[in-house]
Formats: sequence, C-alpha cells, structure tokens
Amino acid sequence: MAYSYEAPVSQSLFDRASVVTPGGVNSPVRAFRAVGGTPRFMVSGTGPYLTDADGREYVDLVCSWGPMILGHSHPEVIAAVQDAVSRGTSFGTPGEGEVALAEEIVARIEPVEQVRLVSSGTEATMSAIRLARGFTGRAKVVKFAGCYHGHVDALLAAAGSGVATFGLPDTPGVTGATAGDTVVLPYNDLDAVRAAFAAHPGEIACVITEASPGNMGVVPPADGFNAGLKELCAADGALYISDEVMTGFRTSKAGWYGVDGVRPDLMTFGKVMGGGFPAAAFGGRGDVMAHLAPAGPVYQAGTLSGNPVATAAGLAQLRLLDDAAYAKIDAVSAELRSLVGDALTKEGVAHTVSAAGNMFSVFFTDRPVRDYEDAKKQDVFRFTAFFHSMLEQGVYLPPSAFESWFVSTAHDERAVERIAAALPAAARAASEATA
Ligand code: PLP
Repeated sequence: MAYSYEAPVSQSLFDRASVVTPGGVNSPVRAFRAVGGTPRFMVSGTGPYLTDADGREYVDLVCSWGPMILGHSHPEVIAAVQDAVSRGTSFGTPGEGEVALAEEIVARIEPVEQVRLVSSGTEATMSAIRLARGFTGRAKVVKFAGCYHGHVDALLAAAGSGVATFGLPDTPGVTGATAGDTVVLPYNDLDAVRAAFAAHPGEIACVITEASPGNMGVVPPADGFNAGLKELCAADGALYISDEVMTGFRTSKAGWYGVDGVRPDLMTFGKVMGGGFPAAAFGGRGDVMAHLAPAGPVYQAGTLSGNPVATAAGLAQLRLLDDAAYAKIDAVSAELRSLVGDALTKEGVAHTVSAAGNMFSVFFTDRPVRDYEDAKKQDVFRFTAFFHSMLEQGVYLPPSAFESWFVSTAHDERAVERIAAALPAAARAASEATA
C-alpha cells in the first residue's frame, strides 16, 4: 500500500532507532508492522492531542494504551509529579505515597483486601500466578486464547495484543516445560473450562482471564462467563484471577468488577493506576496475600516498586476519577462508537463495533465475535486502509486491528468533531480496499 503523506523526521528517528534497538522500538506494536508505514515519534501531548516530531497534531485514540484517562499533561497530575520529584526520585524504603495509593485501591475495589505494588502489568500477572501456585501447591494455569497478560513466559501461549498482531502461534524462548503447565482454552467457552478441570482434577492452580478482553480487539465476556469461571475454580480449589490491567479504574471506579460484580480471588492492575508512570499492582483475598514475602514464603520484590514519583502520579490521577469523570468518558465513547458505525454503514463496509463499558474496537466483519478465532476472521486489510486514512487526517488509532481504542475525559467536542470529519474518507478507504 502506498502512503500519500510523509513523516521525514519520524522516519529519520526510526532509521536511527533501528540501528541500536531491535526493530527500532521498545515494544513491538509501536513499529507499525501490522499496518505498514512510518511509526510516528511523538514529542508532546496535551489533553486529547499528540504532536509528532514532524510537527503534526493528532487526536489520540490510544491514550498510551490506556493510562492517559485524563488526557495528556493533566495539570493536577503534572503538579503532583513535580512536587514528588522535588523531594527525590527513589529511596528504596517504604514511603507514605505507596500507602496512600494502596489505600485508594483497597477502598475502590471491595475484593482487594491487600495489595502489592509493582512496576508493570507483566510483573503483576507474573507475581499473581506465582502466588496462586505457592498458595495452592499446584502447577497448572488456565488461560484463554486471545487474552494477553503481558510477556510472562507461561502466559505467552496464544496471547493477544502484539502476539495477535504478528500472528505468532507461540514465541521462541519459552521452554516446553514452562508452556507445558499452561492450558489454553477458547474464550467464552465454559464447557472447555469444565472439561479442563475434569481432565486435571486438583492440578490447576488458577484460571487467569482478562476481566473483559481488550487484546484481541474488544470481546466482552458472555453473560455468566466470569461467574461460571469463579464457580468452577471454587469447586476445584483453584484461584480465579481477574486481570484488570486494562479495565481497572477505566470501565468504572472499580474497573470491570464494578460492572459485573464477580468477586475474584486475585486481581491485577496497571495502566490507569500509574498515571503514565510505571506503577502496577496485584491484590485480593487477605489469606492469599498473606502468603507473600515477607509475611509469607512466596518471594516477590522490586527495586522501584512503590516508586514515589509513580505513586504520586497514580494517586493524583485516581483521585480525579470520580463519577462525573466516568460519565464523561462513557458518553464520549458512546458518541464515537455511533459515529464510526454510521460512517462504515454508509459506505457499506461490513463491521461490528464491539464495546465493553467505554472500551471499544471495530471488527471489520459482520459475523459475531465471541473469541479469538472469530476476531481473526475479520478483513484486516480494510482496517489497514481505514487506519492510514485516519492517520493522514490527524487521528491516531491503535496501529493494529486487534487492540482496544481508548478515550479520555479530555476528548471534548472539538476533538470529537475532528474525528467525525475524518471518518467519511476513512470509511470510503476501507470500502475500496482490496486484500
Ligand atoms: N494484562 C493486560 C490485560 C494488558 O492489557 C497488559 C498490557 O497491555 C498487560 C497485562 C501487561 O502490562 P505491561 O505492558 O504494563 O507489562
């Protein structure tokens, strides 16, 4: 596909980056390989806008893959960061900020009695799984195809996100022994989960699932699916782990738990709770968390865990996320979904706008999407054409058909109008695209 627009400064930065960094990026999806073209090197962000190294402004519908729920450079978050930085950046000791952030999480999410702070979502899911294995004395982990839980070895089998983007069935470097304890099942299929428990009675430490998946595109849990997982786990003595790294503090004050009310044994968080800094967490039942060092025998640690700058940013962001903020994000998301749907319908493009609370994505198919296999059957080439038309018109979408789109409280009328103005040409490009 030819691109009618150029980004010479980004291209020269990408050329430099490709010499010193594998593929030129520090996280694969940023390289634009799924859509082609030059990845945009961003230099600043304000509210709903990003500006790239060539001086072009974009309405941002990625929001750093979720964290920037108040938009970029929110003045109160920046002030909290500046205040924290002025007192030093890392002490390697306990500090009040991490206590306050833990209290905020525990206050918002009822099943979380205790929480441990870490630095990334990957660390959170890795640690939660270790704890589940240590607590139950069992080895096997059940996960679902298309769910991404970070680049934890045991969880990279049939993962979504970047792994979905590249269509890798698995990744080299994960040993057979590690993958051998992972049972991968189709999403939204409780019969498959029942069969796995029947095949491995007393061997499954935990079932981990995205609370509502956003890493194969947005594919919400079918009615009763999460409740069924919880029930099957409880009956066998396994732990039910809800990965809320993406949904946590985004789909409601209490994340997806606030939407479906199914009580997990352990939960994982990241993204929004770090306010744009590396802060993440796992937490849950007090008796399970009591197994974690130094209270218990399961080891887990981190030099920068509970970092004072990251916790200040996260806390400032969470404190601003009140009911009015969520109402605003939900309303903007609903408006965009209907604008996108209308534009595609008008051009006769087969599509499904799929939403889970304010998270949404567009599948270029009109067949129902209930799992990863369904998601893969969409016309990805139409997304590619749609993506590039939007980019050319100054709207920054996730550079993959298998990712959620994110909005923020900063997406105001002007930003929505700019998106609306770009949609007709993008829908036409999708309709004219050929495989
Ligand atoms: N879990 C989910 C549901 C995610 O979406 C992600 C990242 O996108 C992770 C875990 C991993 O988080 P991180 O990228 O901070 O390691």
